[in-house]
Amino acid sequence: MNNKFDLIVIGAGSGGLAAAKRAATYGAKVAIIEGKEIGGTCVIRGCVPKKLMVYAANNRQVIINSKGYGLSSKDISFCSATLLNNVRNEVSRLSEIHRRSLEKLNIKVFKGWGRFVNINEIEIIPSDKKQKIYSLYGDKILISVGGTPNKLNLLGKELAWTSDDVFKLKKFPKSLTIIGGGYIASEFACIFRNLGTEVTQVIRSNNLLRGFDLDLSAFLKEKMINSGINLKFNDELEAINKSPIGLDIVFKSGSNQVSENLLMATGRRPNISNLNLDCIGIKMSGKFIKVDEVNQTNVSNIFAIGDVIDKPNLTPVAIEQGRVFSDNYFGNSDRLVNYEYVPKAVFTSPEIASVGLTEEEANNLHSEENIEIFKCSFTPMSNTFKVEKSKSILKLVVNKLNNKVIGCHMFGESASEIIQMASVALNAGVTKKMFDETMALHPTVSEEFVTMYS
Ligand code: NDP
Repeated sequence: MNNKFDLIVIGAGSGGLAAAKRAATYGAKVAIIEGKEIGGTCVIRGCVPKKLMVYAANNRQVIINSKGYGLSSKDISFCSATLLNNVRNEVSRLSEIHRRSLEKLNIKVFKGWGRFVNINEIEIIPSDKKQKIYSLYGDKILISVGGTPNKLNLLGKELAWTSDDVFKLKKFPKSLTIIGGGYIASEFACIFRNLGTEVTQVIRSNNLLRGFDLDLSAFLKEKMINSGINLKFNDELEAINKSPIGLDIVFKSGSNQVSENLLMATGRRPNISNLNLDCIGIKMSGKFIKVDEVNQTNVSNIFAIGDVIDKPNLTPVAIEQGRVFSDNYFGNSDRLVNYEYVPKAVFTSPEIASVGLTEEEANNLHSEENIEIFKCSFTPMSNTFKVEKSKSILKLVVNKLNNKVIGCHMFGESASEIIQMASVALNAGVTKKMFDETMALHPTVSEEFVTMYS
């Protein structure tokens, strides 16, 4: 029967696509179900469109900042409609590339929303409402439906945007209030500010980017304030009301802010509410689907990867989970995902990037007397003639007992590119001595990593 498959993947995001393609290369008969465009959060509503906007924001700042280099342009006007339109076209192009690669591998795409009827049967509610509901049957089923933004439940919440809405805009607002101090809030604060929007960012604690190295987030805080972002710490949203110029935003402290729009960037949750997981008895771990080290749920033929499980919710992690799953179950491998040194970056201006333990985490895990910190901060040479200068900070966390570098952190230009390469070294067990014995490449920012002494 043509509705029976070796593998049914629910969700065509980065993880689901990787798993489906890998399984198909082993000869499995694969179906993939997706209600929206192929590509998921990363390609359609996340990493890709966001990074294209980051390039726009950074390029505008380079032009504005480069008079000292003898470079100036009379026209640095910004047309947000052009950017948003180009971003949407690029995202559609990438989605189409994925669709074609699925077709080449004979993977059947079903456009609609899947939900469990039993452990082998998935009912599809077609995206095209004129079509009837129908069922597929799978030996193995992989849940890779990703996440969805959280909205705080308060008066006027329907007036707020989430990150999904930003990518649907026709043009940028003149003023924007952003709630949250995490990845999405901080990245969008920099994008919008550097493209000319008045930005207020409201954080409930006294620091940006909980979980990142405190030195790095302190440097970012200073830079964001200097770039004109109004950072409000230790306050929370109370209500959103309509006002003549947009929104009147009320905070728990009693203060208020008038802004054209408001973006809630207060975390994400697994997108599983319509999967009917209760009917097959899938066990949860808090808001996440509970899986073992090979991504198997408590139901032996059902697996879960990506943002629906309690692991770093990052695209490369989901892709690797998907490939490992298919290698193991369709390619006779015996692989595990390596979670030890997962690099992460926040694409603020400039960027923050990290791999391994922060100073705080290392002190807690190995005790403070066993940890040595090497750090340096400076203004990179690229800033010499810039109007608005930006510092960098580089930091190594070393375990004194074996000289191993267990954390590597950076705030500054190209931090994400540099930390990606540093993560190869940390993953291979690099020692501080090896850093010291490595020849510097001059003049670069990252040469400081091999010339740091306590
Ligand atoms: P984060 O978890 O990074 O940040 C959520 C923010 O919202 C935190 O500052 C949190 O505060 C705050 N918050 C939560 N609840 C409330 C509340 N009730 N009132 C006020 N503030 C609140 O989530 P994001 O939404 O920014 O991003 C979601 C995930 O997406 C990330 O964790 C990451 O995995 C992924 N992502 C990765 C990116 C990258 O790799 N560059 C880019 C964007 C997203 P507190 O810290 O106090 O809890």
